[in-house]
Amino acid sequence: MQNHEKKLMKTQFEYDNQDYEILNRCPHCNLDIHPTVQNTYLFENNTYKVIVLSLACPSCKRDFFILNDFRDMQIINEKFIMSIPKYGFAENTLVKNTSQKFQDLYMQSINSELLGHYDISFFGYIKSLEILIKEIAILEHPESEDVILFSNLISCLEQFHATNMHLFSKKLLEVLKNDYLYYYKTEQFYKSSDLVKDCIDYFLLYLEMLLKTLKLDDHSSTDFN
Ligand SMILES: [Zn+2]
Repeated sequence: MQNHEKKLMKTQFEYDNQDYEILNRCPHCNLDIHPTVQNTYLFENNTYKVIVLSLACPSCKRDFFILNDFRDMQIINEKFIMSIPKYGFAENTLVKNTSQKFQDLYMQSINSELLGHYDISFFGYIKSLEILIKEIAILEHPESEDVILFSNLISCLEQFHATNMHLFSKKLLEVLKNDYLYYYKTEQFYKSSDLVKDCIDYFLLYLEMLLKTLKLDDHSSTDFN
C-alpha cells in the first residue's frame, strides 16, 4: 500500500531569513505547492509571539493564512498553530467519490492531526476507514447492505473484502482489531496511524477504479439493449 503522491505534512518554509512551518499542500485545492508570500503580520504580548503568513497558491490562486508560534523554542517543539481556512477536500476527486459522512469524519481526523490532537485523529482515521470499506462493500454487494452496516470493521473486511485481505499487513490487522487497547500499549503509535492512513488512500483508489468499472458495465448493458 504505497502512495507515491507526497502526503499532507507540515514542512519548513523560509521567508525573509526566518524559518516557518507551513503545510506542503494548498488547503483549498490540495495540490503540492510552493506558495507565494503576500504579507506577514506579527501579534505579540508578554507571553506570546505569533506570526501570521498570508500565502497565495500558485495553482488555484486563492489565498490562505498560516499561523506560527514564535515563542522561545525551548517551550514549544513545533511552530505550526493552524491554517485559515482548515484543510479541505472540495476539489479532491478521489474523496469526492465518497459519502458526506466519510468526508466529514476524514476531514475532522486530518485537521485534528494538524492541530496536534493525535489521539482523536487516530480513532477518527480508524472509523473513517470503517465507513469507507462499508460503502465499497455495499456497492459491490448491495443485497447484503443490512449485514454490512451492522458488522464490525474486521468482519466486514473478512466477509466482503476477502480479495483485498492479502494487502493488509499483520501489523495493520493488529491495529484494526485492537484499536483501543493497542493504542495505549504501543509505543509506535505514529506508525500505526500511518498504516491506517495508507489503507484509506488505498481504498480511495480502489473505489475510483470500482466506480469506473461499474460505469463501463452500465454503458455496455445499455448498448446491448
Ligand atoms: Zn490551491
